[in-house]
Amino acid sequence: MTVKHVLNDQLAMGYAAGVLPEAFDVVVAAHLSLSDEARAMVSSYEAVGACLMEDCECFDMKPDAFASTLNRIKQSDIVVEKPKAKNVLPEPIQKYFGGDVDKVKWKSLGGGVKQAILPTDSKAQARLLYIPAGQSVPDHGHRGLELTLVLQGSFADEVDHFGRGDLEIANEELDHQPVAGMEADCICLAATDAPLRFNGLIPRILQPFFKI
Ligand code: ZN
Repeated sequence: MTVKHVLNDQLAMGYAAGVLPEAFDVVVAAHLSLSDEARAMVSSYEAVGACLMEDCECFDMKPDAFASTLNRIKQSDIVVEKPKAKNVLPEPIQKYFGGDVDKVKWKSLGGGVKQAILPTDSKAQARLLYIPAGQSVPDHGHRGLELTLVLQGSFADEVDHFGRGDLEIANEELDHQPVAGMEADCICLAATDAPLRFNGLIPRILQPFFKI
């Protein structure tokens, strides 16, 4: 599957090295299942890591370091989606809900927008978001990193238009108001490592209740 917006080098490296917080790890794993290009980026970092360990004798490494790196490449927890898969949720996300989107227990955020938080460790938080076609989410900024992966439908914001498999990487510099496309209700997986900064009063008041 060809997607327009793929992960960056830092994320590819972090994923290959296995150092991302769980919430970001699942977003990247799901993104990799949908993008050949993203998968190629991660594989090249895994290969570079293995070569460095093989060639370099200057580090005092554990005897099994190379073997365990190779192992990580081989097991490569990267699950590639089958070409005609009908699932909305890629496999790495399904693990958290015991199945596809019909198993998800949504909680309303108002205006038809719903969320379901993934039970990951607490270093960062991942949630599925359901945004009805044509609906917008409140205008907000970010206090840290936000990764948003589109799983169904699409959304558009100040940056671009994002469809299934696309990953938007937002940080402190971006303020945006994503609006779901008209063609279908939008489902995406979003992960953040710090609370969002809402510009409107009502979302600010509701924020603690929704844990966003
Ligand atoms: Zn955002």
